[in-house]
Amino acid sequence: MNYQEILDEIAQDIRPLLSEGKVADYIPALAEVKKEQFAMTLTLFDGTQISTGCSEKLFSIQSISKVFTFTQALKYYGVELYKRIGREPSGNPFNSLVQLEYEHGKPRNPFINAGAINVTDALISSAGERAYENLLTFIQSIANDKTITSDNRVATSEMQHGYRNLALANLMKSFDNLHNDTDEVVKTYFKHCAIEMNTQMLSRSMLYLANYGRDPLSNQEYISKEQAKRINAVMLTCGHYDASGDFAYRVGLPGKSGVGGGIVAVVPKQMGICVWSPGLNAQGNSLVGTKALELFTTRTGLSIF
Ligand code: GLU
Repeated sequence: MNYQEILDEIAQDIRPLLSEGKVADYIPALAEVKKEQFAMTLTLFDGTQISTGCSEKLFSIQSISKVFTFTQALKYYGVELYKRIGREPSGNPFNSLVQLEYEHGKPRNPFINAGAINVTDALISSAGERAYENLLTFIQSIANDKTITSDNRVATSEMQHGYRNLALANLMKSFDNLHNDTDEVVKTYFKHCAIEMNTQMLSRSMLYLANYGRDPLSNQEYISKEQAKRINAVMLTCGHYDASGDFAYRVGLPGKSGVGGGIVAVVPKQMGICVWSPGLNAQGNSLVGTKALELFTTRTGLSIF
């Protein structure tokens, strides 16, 4: 299959859509990002990368970081983790408070904001002040790039406007399902959301999930085969908030989006994928990114279905 040709064709086909969607302007630092941008990268098991568009351009990974925090927490706590968070789709917006109230402070899954804040709390409980550094080291390792870091401007901007996320943390605390200082937890959460990567780094970072928890290039095992299966399953069912069903229907791959406009996806036993375009649809997922992945799996037949 000529992947380069396929990606270049997709880049052409999505062009008319680049002006659609809306950047995440509820985070002021992200409101400044120019909407008409697109990049897509595939990383194969031998390390070959095929890209189209501005694949070296760094962007805010936002909720894609939740795949990495979930991986770390699952590795540390195992199934104990599910005492504090569920693994069911929420069917609600990513930052909703309502469900959390009537489900007694237990977030539906690790990928909605409440769930990810809860996972961050669990990581702080296990690693203390080193929680963020440990996470960053892990991301640098799976992406094979030591330059990766967080953009403090974005993290600060989120903290200054993070009323809803702080409300989620405080609500969980009131149900005794959050154990550290809420400000510290939310600050750490924003810091990992503000990590900057490009599509090359992110598609490379998905290889361990495409290969049963083991990086096919370094042969390092990051998580067990069983845990990799679980993470992929939660990505498929919960990775796109209340549009997770639609993403599975259109794309048919485990994936995770972020409001920075990135989407990562996993083709089991084949490759890691990342696509980026900052214009979002109504559910907070990259509009063009979703379309590009839909075209990719339709044209290559590489969905899991
Ligand atoms: N930092 C963002 C927030 O908490 C993450 C949301 C997302 O990427 O979906 O609102």
